[in-house]
Amino acid sequence: MRPGIDVECREVGLRDGLQIQTTFFATEGKIKWLTDEVGAGMPEVEACSFVPPKLLPQFADAKEVVAAALKTEGSIISALSPNLRGAQDAFAAGIHKLNYVTSVSESHNMANVRQSVDDSVEGFKRIVEARNTIPGAENVTLATGLSTALGCTIEGQVSEDAVMRLAERFVEAGSTELMVADTVGYANPQQVKSMFKKVIAEFGSTVSIAGHFHDTRGLGLANVFAALEAGCIRFDASLAGLGGCPFAPEATGNIVMEDLVFLLEGAGLKTGVNLDKLVAIRETVEKYLPDETLHGMYAKAGPPKGFVPATNFAAAAE
Ligand code: ZN
Repeated sequence: MRPGIDVECREVGLRDGLQIQTTFFATEGKIKWLTDEVGAGMPEVEACSFVPPKLLPQFADAKEVVAAALKTEGSIISALSPNLRGAQDAFAAGIHKLNYVTSVSESHNMANVRQSVDDSVEGFKRIVEARNTIPGAENVTLATGLSTALGCTIEGQVSEDAVMRLAERFVEAGSTELMVADTVGYANPQQVKSMFKKVIAEFGSTVSIAGHFHDTRGLGLANVFAALEAGCIRFDASLAGLGGCPFAPEATGNIVMEDLVFLLEGAGLKTGVNLDKLVAIRETVEKYLPDETLHGMYAKAGPPKGFVPATNFAAAAE
């Protein structure tokens, strides 16, 4: 974790937020968003997904976006890839961290990446092998996301045991970060607390644990707080809450980054992220996605009177 912060936030809007967008977000807009986000102090930015452009035209400019991202300084630049081919491209592009996602529920994984969970684990092992053998890739961090860890649109409830088993397989294979994801916004805080306590007790001393919540049913930030109480100090969110669910078109998507930072800073936890700068980036999203609804309460209401964030930016600038 970057020195001087208590909680590490990761912006996933450029990937999770844009992947279901049928409107192509212009490359120059993505680069501006990303650069401004790094400038706001965001510890990690997931820049794109390395997938065939035919499958997801939104990420046809992945190489260009990553090249621009790597010119910035101070943030971890990560990218998602569902397979070895994409991982090789991501390594070649020079990313710092690769995110690989598998659903805990078998049928969701099949629907999402068209392979069994076993095959996904094998796929990850091939990526580890590639990371260890491709010159220049040896320092890339490999993170694994456990999707549908708190509920699944196809199978309903997902057992904690199933999550723990998959987590164990990934850690054994070489993952150094586990991202526990409520991909479809099913979770409640009680459930989150229990799940995160288990995962942290078992793997927290060897790998990083991150939480990924969607606000589909309004419990996103409550779930963040529950995970915090269980000891989780890494969270994903997306600017303006971009990213929804293709099966629930009216539903909100990822938790809103601006609101997450407000929650954490208000709770006395330093994120290193400047809220004013963060809120200003919404203009870029508005400009390039004029038809999109921007979510977020903090941006609409502004700071409470006398609000003092935990991060002392004046001290940091000295
Ligand atoms: Zn997500």
